[in-house]
Amino acid sequence: MDNQQTVSTAGSLSVPPASVEKHHKYEFFKVVQGYLDEAARVIDLPEYIQTILSQPKNEIIINFPVKMDDGSIRLFKGYRVQHNNLLGPYKGGIRYHEGVSLDDVKALAAMMTWKCALMNLPLGGGKGGVKFDPNKVSRDELQRITRRFFHALGSNIGPDTDIPAPDVGTDAKSMAWAMDTYMNTVGSLFRQSVKGVVTGKPVAVGGTLGREKATGQGLVYTIQEWAEERDFQLGGATLIVQGFGNVGSFTSLILSRLGASTIAVGDHSGYLYNPEGFNPHKLQDYVKKNRSIAGYPGGRTISREEFFKIKADIFIPAALENQIGIDEAKSLQVRLVAEGANGPCSPEGERILIDRGIDILPDVLANAGGVTVSYYEWVQNKRSEHWTLEEVDERLEKAMQRAYREVVELARQKKCSMRVAAYAVALQRIAAAYGERDIFP
Ligand code: GLU
Repeated sequence: MDNQQTVSTAGSLSVPPASVEKHHKYEFFKVVQGYLDEAARVIDLPEYIQTILSQPKNEIIINFPVKMDDGSIRLFKGYRVQHNNLLGPYKGGIRYHEGVSLDDVKALAAMMTWKCALMNLPLGGGKGGVKFDPNKVSRDELQRITRRFFHALGSNIGPDTDIPAPDVGTDAKSMAWAMDTYMNTVGSLFRQSVKGVVTGKPVAVGGTLGREKATGQGLVYTIQEWAEERDFQLGGATLIVQGFGNVGSFTSLILSRLGASTIAVGDHSGYLYNPEGFNPHKLQDYVKKNRSIAGYPGGRTISREEFFKIKADIFIPAALENQIGIDEAKSLQVRLVAEGANGPCSPEGERILIDRGIDILPDVLANAGGVTVSYYEWVQNKRSEHWTLEEVDERLEKAMQRAYREVVELARQKKCSMRVAAYAVALQRIAAAYGERDIFP
């Protein structure tokens, strides 16, 4: 049996090993709570709602064994945090990364609540993760880890309960295994089609067209809104991109079609510079095959410090949280930081960027294209429909434009940052629902 526990605080977790200590010293959940408090003040949110939202509803921790290729048994620690389901089923990705902790997953789950509310989706917020490096296991091991984790999650997830999706370290293939596992276990009891239990699936098994590129596409739609407002020409613009996985690569690719070139890229393996501009197609293919940009022949190796000093128009952080601290914020020579990642700016870093007049498109808005198209996938699964790519993109564009305007207007009205305004728009929607429903019993 897997060892599953539902706890109410992070206190029972053991201290992480020293190798990831730096990562864990950053208290991501506290950071997100800080923004919640700020946004609550801005809109006079009733105190009881702020109190409810200050903690997730459920925190599930599962320790599960997996037989590795060499016959040994390894114990994995997985999490699913269900933050809030007032507006609909919990919704959010599953992350595979060696730095995953309960604190991170709580922070990311809360951000999904704001993201879905901001995008006006009938969904709540959740997030999951398993603490391991997916690049250090074989494909068969990866499949067994995924299937065993989703088996252990059991009926804690479901198409009307909690709907996982890809995140850092997972992809459409992981979701196909997840759906298949659910259908063969929990789903088979109800004898119902349960394709909508996860989103971000391959198109062949109920995924939607446009989901793979959706986060990057949504990010580009918000960048286009920003550019239009400032009369800034994206044709001929330069970008630097941190992280060249799903979000970074599709953002770079879609922006290249608008005439913007990526002149520097970086990931966990290092940083590369090419003033002529990278070919995003070639680099994306290379990263898919090699799992990192290391060894890519099209650029000169630079240090992380050099990367953050490169003069460009736009910086796309598309890796992990807490990448732009005080030093990076002082170094950056860009006009815009468009957050493809969740939580890439520390609050101190953000303050410096704002003081220096650098605009920030905050994560909760800027990368919400992923979950928005996840919602379209879920709707298509429910209705047994297939939408065209044009239909998906058109809806996404309108949704991103509407959210962008709502955030900009509230930020102007309340004289607050775009981030606090994005939280505030989300909170207003959640508060309206609590106001109508009151508290049971
Ligand atoms: N993991 C993505 C995010 O952070 C997508 C979540 C989803 O599609 O449910 O927004």
